This record gives sequence, C-alpha cells and structure tokens, in this order.
Amino acid sequence: MAPMNTANAPTRRRHQLVAATSIAVALLVMGIKYLAYLMTGSVALFSDALESIVNVVTAIAALIAIRVGAQPPDRGHPFGHYKAEYFAAVLEGALIIVAAALIFHEAYRALLAPRMLNAPVAGLLVNGVATAINAAWAWVLIRNGRAWSSPAMQGDGQHLMSDVITSIGVLLGLVLATVTGWTILDPLLAAAVAFNILRIGYNLAIESMSALMDQAASPEIQARIREAIRANGTGALQAHDIRTRTAGPQTFIEFHLVVPGEMTVEAAHDICDRIEDALEAELASTDVLIHVEPDHKAKRKDAVEL
Ligand code: ZN
Ligand code: ZN
Repeated sequence: MAPMNTANAPTRRRHQLVAATSIAVALLVMGIKYLAYLMTGSVALFSDALESIVNVVTAIAALIAIRVGAQPPDRGHPFGHYKAEYFAAVLEGALIIVAAALIFHEAYRALLAPRMLNAPVAGLLVNGVATAINAAWAWVLIRNGRAWSSPAMQGDGQHLMSDVITSIGVLLGLVLATVTGWTILDPLLAAAVAFNILRIGYNLAIESMSALMDQAASPEIQARIREAIRANGTGALQAHDIRTRTAGPQTFIEFHLVVPGEMTVEAAHDICDRIEDALEAELASTDVLIHVEPDHKAKRKDAVEL
C-alpha cells in the first residue's frame, strides 16, 4: 500500500509498471501455490496460497494510489483524489479477513479428520517454486525501492520477504509432518498462517478507516508544523486552532494567525506566504489555509506564540 511520491511523469510510469508487475507476480504465485494444495490436499498449503491474496490486493491499492490518487485536483474534487487508495484498502482489509475465515474453516475440518498428504514431495516442490518467485520479486522491490528512494516500495518488498519466511516455515513443518506422520501439524500450521493474515487485514482496515475519518497528522509531524510556524511567523503575534489531516502524501494544515489589528492586509499576507513556503519546504506536500485575525482574538490555550 503505497502513498508514492508521484511528482513527475516518468517516476509515475515506473511506479505504475512495478505495481502492475506486482499484481501479475502475486496472481501467478497464488495460482502455483493453489496447484500445490490441489496436489497434496494440505490445508497449510491452502492457507499459504490464500495468503497471496494480501499481495494481490496491496498491489492493486498501490496501482489505484498511482493512477487515481495522484490525479491533480479538479472542479469536482478540489482537494484531490488521494483518498481513493484508502477506500480501496478498507475493501481489501475486508477481503483479507474473509480469506482468513476460509482458512479457519478448512483447518477446523482437517483438525477433526487429520490425514496424510497426497504426493507430498511433488506438492512441496511446486510450492517451493512459487516461494522462490516471491523471493526474487521481493529482492527486486527492495533494491529498486532503495535506488528510487521509495520507502513504500521497500516496505512492500520487505512484506513480501516476510511471506517468503512464513512459506518456508510452512514447508519445513509439512516436511516434518510427512516424515513423522504427525498429521495434526497440517491444520495447526494453517491456523497459524490464518492468524497472521487476520492481523494484517485488521491493521490495513483500521489504518485506512482512520485516514478516511480525517485523523490528524502524527504528533511528530504536528511538532514540526508548530516549529515551522514559530520560526517563520515573525511580525505576527500568535497562531492557534491548528488543525491537520493527511491524505496520501498530502498534509492539509489550517490555523488562525493573530496579527496586530493595524497591520495592512499586504503585510499580513506576506507573513502567510512565508509560513506557507516554510511548511511546504518542511513537509514536501502541503495544502495550507490561514485565517488572519486582529490581536483581540488571541487565545491563551494551545497557541504558538510568535
Ligand atoms: Zn481564532
Ligand atoms: Zn495568497
């Protein structure tokens, strides 16, 4: 899920290509892993296949973020289209939770009647091929993410790498189950994977819903905003009622700026422009609205004194 910096067209096309390839890789891996499940009847391999849904949907969210979210504001959407990616992510969180429920259902059935895997060697090899493809793509994402300084892409790569480790754990568990005849390991591994999927889906849904509810910027960002206002508000008296919200890469900031009542509109506007430029320099992508007030509007509580 990527609030990617889409400042220029070549960068945007590059990120779009990566996101599209991520979708294709995730679908391919899911298909191969599902085949391994059909060959063996292992619910752990079923859960491993369904886990790829997380990667399909996060890649789709990244593509939506780049294609829809990065479109400039227009007459109908004057604040931009950034929230498209959160809307997608909430639906995805729900889909991921459904996938986890499906795995729990299958794991429960297998727990009641555990049985040996069919064709374990061939099935585990097929699953291993898919895991190797995932590992290769994760490596590409991490490397390009570093080279293009995109933390979002690096994060996606690291997430995929953690899937690879889960898959290796599942494979080792199934080898153990086959060698020892402990058939119960299969549904237990599946349940463990389902718990992990549930956790990811829940976090994705909660984070995205907070963003849709106009959650304030992080305390760290808010502190930087107050500092930038304080350092650049010379000539004004104070700033208060500072409100922030975030959408994709964009930070929306609004506040009241108290100036001496006799100050000219021209002079007050100069201060506003100076603060706006400083905030843009500090946070890279901002949308600032400042309401100018005369001195008797000053507040005691929660104000930045200038
Ligand atoms: Zn005020
Ligand atoms: Zn202006």
